[in-house]
Amino acid sequence: MKKVINVANRLPVTLGSTASSPIRKSSGGLVAALEGVNNDEFQLQSLGWPGVVVDEQNQQAISSTLKNDYDCIPVFLSEDEVDGYYHGLSNSSLWPLLHYNRVYMRYSEADWQAYVAVNQKFANAVLASAQDDDIVWVHDYHLMLLPEMLRKARPALKVGFFLHTPFPSSEIIRCHPRRTELIRGLLGADLIGFHTSSYLRHFRSSALQLLGLESEMTTITSGNHVSSLGVFPIGINSGSFEQELKRPEFFDTLVEYQNNWADKKIVLSVERLDYSKGLLRRLEAIETFLANSEQAKDVVFVFIGVPTRGEVKEYQELREKIEGEVGRINGLYASVQHSPIHFIHQSIPFTALCALYSIADVALVTPLVDGMNLVAKEFIACQGYHPESYDPGVLILSEFAGAAQELLNAIIVNPYDKLEVANSLEKALTMPLAERQERMNYMTARVMQFDSSHWADGFLMQLISHREKLPQPQNMLANESIILQALQQAKRPALFLDYDGTLRDFEDKPEDATPDLHLKGIFTQLANSAIDIFIISGRPASFLEQWLGDYPFTLIAEHGNRYRLPGESDWQSLNNNTDHNWKNPVVDIFRLYEGSTPGCTIEEKQTSVVWHYRQCEPVYAKWKANQLVHDLYDMLGNSPVEIHHGKRIVEVSSIHINKGRAVEHFINQHNYDRIICAGDDQTDETMFRVESDALISIKIGEGDSLAQHRIAGVIPFLNLLQNISNLTPHPDQEQEQDQLPQKLAG
Ligand code: UDP
Repeated sequence: MKKVINVANRLPVTLGSTASSPIRKSSGGLVAALEGVNNDEFQLQSLGWPGVVVDEQNQQAISSTLKNDYDCIPVFLSEDEVDGYYHGLSNSSLWPLLHYNRVYMRYSEADWQAYVAVNQKFANAVLASAQDDDIVWVHDYHLMLLPEMLRKARPALKVGFFLHTPFPSSEIIRCHPRRTELIRGLLGADLIGFHTSSYLRHFRSSALQLLGLESEMTTITSGNHVSSLGVFPIGINSGSFEQELKRPEFFDTLVEYQNNWADKKIVLSVERLDYSKGLLRRLEAIETFLANSEQAKDVVFVFIGVPTRGEVKEYQELREKIEGEVGRINGLYASVQHSPIHFIHQSIPFTALCALYSIADVALVTPLVDGMNLVAKEFIACQGYHPESYDPGVLILSEFAGAAQELLNAIIVNPYDKLEVANSLEKALTMPLAERQERMNYMTARVMQFDSSHWADGFLMQLISHREKLPQPQNMLANESIILQALQQAKRPALFLDYDGTLRDFEDKPEDATPDLHLKGIFTQLANSAIDIFIISGRPASFLEQWLGDYPFTLIAEHGNRYRLPGESDWQSLNNNTDHNWKNPVVDIFRLYEGSTPGCTIEEKQTSVVWHYRQCEPVYAKWKANQLVHDLYDMLGNSPVEIHHGKRIVEVSSIHINKGRAVEHFINQHNYDRIICAGDDQTDETMFRVESDALISIKIGEGDSLAQHRIAGVIPFLNLLQNISNLTPHPDQEQEQDQLPQKLAG
């Protein structure tokens, strides 16, 4: 049996207000959903905040009780932490944005610091109780940084994350001042789950737009980690509804309500009093219905607004507005015997809720945006309470609820269109029995089958089967000692190192990708080693000279067009061919594309021209780049050039120049008995094709390659270089060194 540490903001138990108060099981969608997890496969332990601030002197005792009696691990939070992390960052900046509300977003640096600190507190608690082969399942927007924190501290741990809210368009999430940290935080997970494919799509597009990460339909690779993405629509705990609908207490309540509203049709709304639920818009639609429908006098709108987040200003204002509107509408449309809207601003017990779901003729569920909406599914589950006289009601459901993607037989409405909602009410209240039965049958089958245990088991099974899907081609370097030994045994070794994507990760602006301190440290060590170093890059000579000119390396610029020897200041040409007539037309066509692709830049080098699109809107620019390449092939068919579509660049360069030729030039001059060529893109493949028994070739990162070995990225390659620089030279090597040009100090 697998142990699953289930991490959510709230534990499934609630402490009383004093240390001696009894501990109660919490209610709520997640608690109910997880009750359905398959106990034969998984042993669930819960980790989270117990819901109240606990004095330090009581924490130990409460921890033991929670652990021993409930298998719960509490994370105790101070008043300030609850304010900053929960009321502040989670509910006042993330919740509004995740629900498309930019106006309500309030952000403060102090809240962010609290969010980071509390996520770290959760991480520490998980790490203290998790074994490497346990599974950690993190829930919801309160803990978006936790997956990355866990991955960094314990890479072997399997971590899943499920988002219970929508994930909005990248245009919305980008408003958050900490958007990149939040997305990176999630990418620490092995599996990230969403309710709908739209939320998944938005997440992928945000990772691309904000972090520049390309993705597959269900995977995103960041650095050397792959996150799987999946769609897991949450369901209800169908068993608990089936049981409730058989209880005598349920029938007593049902009869009581039936008597109360004997001559009325009931339209039911149930939700937390949250601005995402569209209550004010719904009241407008109800008023339109009351003003125009002949049925109005026979209908009661039972409106249950469960109190929520009363300490947040926007929620207090919403409550006042709703109470005002309900009062106004009732004032206008009530008769002596009847008020059309029956508003209850309270939480109601489960039995009463099930009775209301059962007797309702219509459920009016019209959120403006909602991750899933369980109320819609619960209504459906309760409609078949009396199978012998099956007389089901009708669900009116907003197209902006996640549930609308599953419950296709509801009347689907646009909650912003009050006329459409009012007309749907009319249609629902007059719908023939046969149509109501047919619609409800489909939906009942779906809701009861794809319930919460299906959801939880589906997520956990996929998380267990997640494998690192990094490119593991046959040539992945498993053991770097092959390379180290080969170099150590060499009398005259040399390294030919590409720069961008090999020694240094890409930046938006190429001029920003300068050597950092870590890389400079490695250069200094290499400078003191007994190996000849060649930096071979597509960069212009000026860049290499400025940033690498002080090291005793041979610099080879412009893909092998020019070089500068260690200790010399002049650049020499490797290119005897001067036919560059093709350059001007290429620049012209690049300029044409520049106009229609905002953000691109053109770089002219002596023997090549480059069209950079790293800073452009990525999806559009890639499409333009493909068009550009197509046009270039048409235009340059017989010219002595190569067209290369690389990592957010299109480059046209002379065929007389390439890195492979430059390498050949130098190995012919010195009798190297071991050379290592390393690079990350298409232009480096010419080095890998050099015919020499001395060659060891290394491809950095993904993509097809002729190289003998592959290393996942810049960081592991730099680790290898560091180990190379620490090698003790071959005993014969020093003698040979005397014949080499005198090295400069690094
Ligand atoms: N609910 C509740 N107390 C009530 C009324 C409703 O706990 O007085 C429950 C309801 O049964 C449902 C949940 O609140 O399971 C609401 O879930 P939903 O997905 O519809 O919306 P959320 O509140 O999660 O945004």
